[in-house]
Amino acid sequence: MSNIIAIVGRPNVGKSTLFNRLTESRKAIVDDMSGVTRDRHYGVGEWTDKQFTVIDTGGYVANSEDVYEAAIREQVMIAIEEASVLIFMVDVTTGITDLDDDIAQVLRRSNKPVFVTANKVDNTALHSEISTFYGFGLGEVYPLSSMTGSGTGELLDEIIKNFEDEPEEENALPKITIAGRPNVGKSSLVNALIGKERNIVTANAGTTRDSIKIHYNQFGHEFMLIDTAGLRKKTKVKENLEFYSVMRTIKALEEADVVVLMIDAQEGIESQDINIFHLAEKNKKGIVILVNKWDLIEKNTQTMKAFEEQIHERIRPFTDVPIVFTSVLNKQRIFKAIEVALEVYKNRSKKIPTSKLNDVMLPLIEKFPPPALKGKHIKIKYITQINGTSPMFAFFCNLPQYIKDPYKRFIENKLRENFDFAGAPIQIYFRQK
Ligand code: GDP
Ligand code: GDP
Repeated sequence: MSNIIAIVGRPNVGKSTLFNRLTESRKAIVDDMSGVTRDRHYGVGEWTDKQFTVIDTGGYVANSEDVYEAAIREQVMIAIEEASVLIFMVDVTTGITDLDDDIAQVLRRSNKPVFVTANKVDNTALHSEISTFYGFGLGEVYPLSSMTGSGTGELLDEIIKNFEDEPEEENALPKITIAGRPNVGKSSLVNALIGKERNIVTANAGTTRDSIKIHYNQFGHEFMLIDTAGLRKKTKVKENLEFYSVMRTIKALEEADVVVLMIDAQEGIESQDINIFHLAEKNKKGIVILVNKWDLIEKNTQTMKAFEEQIHERIRPFTDVPIVFTSVLNKQRIFKAIEVALEVYKNRSKKIPTSKLNDVMLPLIEKFPPPALKGKHIKIKYITQINGTSPMFAFFCNLPQYIKDPYKRFIENKLRENFDFAGAPIQIYFRQK
């Protein structure tokens, strides 16, 4: 599945307002309070059962005057290459500006679906004003008020028609991607794993259109490595480097089963790392964390433990994630990292037989039943695992609406304690029976 919506447009038209609306702004506020994701410009949204990743390109605009227009233009080109759908946002209160025209010109040359969206149509009186935007020659114009949300549903209804369906379980090989900020050691790791072949593959890459998939088959391990590490020298405007690398990461992540998130031991886990982590988690991908450059850390017997605790603190509540301490430079534990990633892949595709699930879980539930609410007792009768690409469980009970988050977390913990799901996000549903 690769459903990526990029919101493009000049500054101040309302891109980030729409972004927040599409990605549950309430959660964004919570994240902001914990201070982890202030620079959050990408996230997961959902509309009528369809999940997608949204990216607000505006967050990556370079500030200095002279690169400004060139930067936006290049950004739109990157977005065209990497996204599946583009929202081209304009502002009904200002009409068409030169920069709008400039962006429209780039978009007209793309072969991706473009949705011209006239924002700030806060009342019906403004409706007639949107006709001017048909002048772009980009088809239908959608009126929107990001502020009030009116028009969002109509827009999304049309957008999701362009999404790909869930792929069938085509290629049975695990797909692994290595993500992380620039300089953490991604390229070095890929090189260490596949050696000389890498150069051949990258040389052939030519355009940046597709992520490179490398078939790894050595030392008894076979998987597809989705490589983006070698691909980030394509931007002409250096301010776009981060934007470009984020776009590539998002795309690679959508295609992957397991994300190996590399962090730099000297810098610790940072907000950008946590953004990638949450994106992977929300997309139900398997996750392994590598703490690389471990050779540069002065160690005593407590160091590893302290590191682990620090990471757990930042990635809460999903902490059942393997952490491997590597030195790619010294080739220390890099195969271990791959083994763990493949283990996570197995955990993520694990199927627990219904009888075993009930035998283990029902007695635990009997011992610690969900707390009664308004004098009503909640009875969980049986449990099944739902078919899917990641672990999903249905708990059938009399009053599913009365079960609260703490109990859900208790159930998840028990599932994790009894069946190994390390690295795999779990979904739990309570259903009426
Ligand atoms: P961006 O630079 O494109 O991300 O724009 P922002 O989302 O930061 O919005 C720019 C300004 O427009 C802010 O002051 C918003 O409050 C305002 N704005 C965004 N959407 C709407 C809208 O639908 N109606 C009105 N009236 N103002 C809006
Ligand atoms: P990328 O941007 O994530 O692909 O990072 P690179 O693979 O290009 O590595 C960035 C720099 O970190 C290079 O100079 C590497 O030699 C260095 N590096 C990578 N892994 C390690 C490691 O485990 N230990 C040390 N000391 N340096 C490393």
